[in-house]
Amino acid sequence: MIDKIEIFVTDIPVRVKRIFSSGSWDTGPPASLLSKPVLVRIYADGVIGTAQIRPISPGHFVSDTTHSVVAAIKEIYGPAMLGKSIFEIESINQMFDQRLAGNPAARAVLDIALYDAMGKALKQPVHNLIGGCCQPVIPLEWSVSLADDVGTIVTEATRAVEEFDIKVLCIKAADRRGWRQDVKHFEAVRKAVGPDITIGIDPNTGWSLSDSLLAIHAMMPMDLGYIEQPVARRDLRGLAEIRRQAQGIPVMADESLFTLQDAYALAEADAVDAYCIKLYKVGGITPARKIGAVGEASNIALNIGGLAVQSQLEAAAGAHFYASTPVKRMMGAGEFLFGLNATAPDPLVPETDFVIKNGCVEVPTGPGLGVTVDEAALAKFTLLRETVA
Ligand SMILES: [Mg+2]
Repeated sequence: MIDKIEIFVTDIPVRVKRIFSSGSWDTGPPASLLSKPVLVRIYADGVIGTAQIRPISPGHFVSDTTHSVVAAIKEIYGPAMLGKSIFEIESINQMFDQRLAGNPAARAVLDIALYDAMGKALKQPVHNLIGGCCQPVIPLEWSVSLADDVGTIVTEATRAVEEFDIKVLCIKAADRRGWRQDVKHFEAVRKAVGPDITIGIDPNTGWSLSDSLLAIHAMMPMDLGYIEQPVARRDLRGLAEIRRQAQGIPVMADESLFTLQDAYALAEADAVDAYCIKLYKVGGITPARKIGAVGEASNIALNIGGLAVQSQLEAAAGAHFYASTPVKRMMGAGEFLFGLNATAPDPLVPETDFVIKNGCVEVPTGPGLGVTVDEAALAKFTLLRETVA
């Protein structure tokens, strides 16, 4: 039975910022709480389940903040989990809906910590609890930030390919100067990285239907890999029209997909070829698996997004979900490489072999998430600690 939940907000010593068409996010200066990751520990019958998520707002379309996640867990979700079994995953997820709607990042960190606890209790890696290992080696994708200067974009894309051997790039698009500028960015990156790299674009809802069709047709001769969320979240008709005119180039939903019901609506509208699943956006592994099932029923592939900035635990959760899904049901590659020491190491996990190798990563095989937090580092980097008991 769950008898205690601890919540830690921990520091990110190396600041990371990203710019995209609908906003920007920033991990903030060291020691400020806003935008820092939340780690939870669930204690039950001698087992401790641990998970971490970095709430990505302000400035992002997923609205959870560090403070909202801490409050949701401390005041509402956490107390309602006390006395339950770590295996009551469905009833706990139902409780989340009933006690406090929304808040996907707060739910995700708890849901993932329960999977870590179940894995530790059963001495199995999380992927063995959710279907087994279909893909032990996971290809990785690098999302390239928008920038005013095309040289900055090309430098980041080239670094991903040359330093990490990344084979899939996603270029942020819907530059404020118009879609023609996006075509210039695409052309410059394609020229720099050559023909063997898959390059997709993500305008983050910043294009109109007309912009989308014009830009896509201009990029097609340069081998456009996929189109992520060109138009507004609710514009399923627009997505479906773009898909019809894309000549087979896959269209992916990100902002349009938060819930199981969103997944069903996208499938019914014939709007997309792929769902972008981010565990912090959909509420963890339990809802992600259900969205995966809707995708399987409607021939919609899965893509695993979410950068997992300086969090080995967050990256591991993505990796276990990815590994448990058959190759033919996936599109693209795992995006969680900022949790794999690509920009800076995870301050809480100083020793690790869960890192990028030849553009890929191997799913951890130890019990639970298979990532061990260093206790001294946790004590050193903790900015805020709360307990539910
Ligand atoms: Mg996106």
